[in-house]
Amino acid sequence: MRYLFLFFIPYLVYSSKPLIYIDPGHGGLDLGAVIKKPRMEEKRYTLITAHYTKRYLEKMGYRVSLTRSRDFFISLRRRVDIANRARAGIFLSIHYNSCPNKKASGIEIYCNKKINRCSYISKLLAKNILNSLTSRTKAKSRGIRRANYFVLKATKMPAVLIESGFLTNPSERNLIRQREYLQKIARGISEGVDKFVKSRNSKK
Ligand SMILES: [Zn+2]
Repeated sequence: MRYLFLFFIPYLVYSSKPLIYIDPGHGGLDLGAVIKKPRMEEKRYTLITAHYTKRYLEKMGYRVSLTRSRDFFISLRRRVDIANRARAGIFLSIHYNSCPNKKASGIEIYCNKKINRCSYISKLLAKNILNSLTSRTKAKSRGIRRANYFVLKATKMPAVLIESGFLTNPSERNLIRQREYLQKIARGISEGVDKFVKSRNSKK
């Protein structure tokens, strides 16, 4: 009986802490949003935020992988395929926003447009992340939105795309240039994921 109990422990640990894939938006030749003065490229900030988020989630006991860990180009198809093949439990795509209207600011999170069970659960994930993220950063909430983005419709697990702030807004980009602020974003994302996972596990 004792041996049987020991045998089951690893299984319980893995089932309660799903593998998380973090996808830092853009990379390599794909710069994402670009600000000329001061020079800022979206791909750099998504990567730094992804590394911080990975670190926080690992401290919480999660297994975490990145679709890219350095500055190189990777297609959307490949990002999705590696997460699907690894049977990830959660997919987080991290981005920074831009808008011709420089006053636009705040955080918004996207789920797949098509309504099905997976996008319903993704919306719960998005709600948890948005709450933690806005309380950590004090940024404005622009709500949860639905879109037909490839990384959201082709992934086979709960998936969200986080627009973590506007590079085109002068005061928000000043914050994004600070490592401490990116750490707040990463901490907010991690806490939201953890709350979501705990709420799913309590329903089992
Ligand atoms: Zn982007």
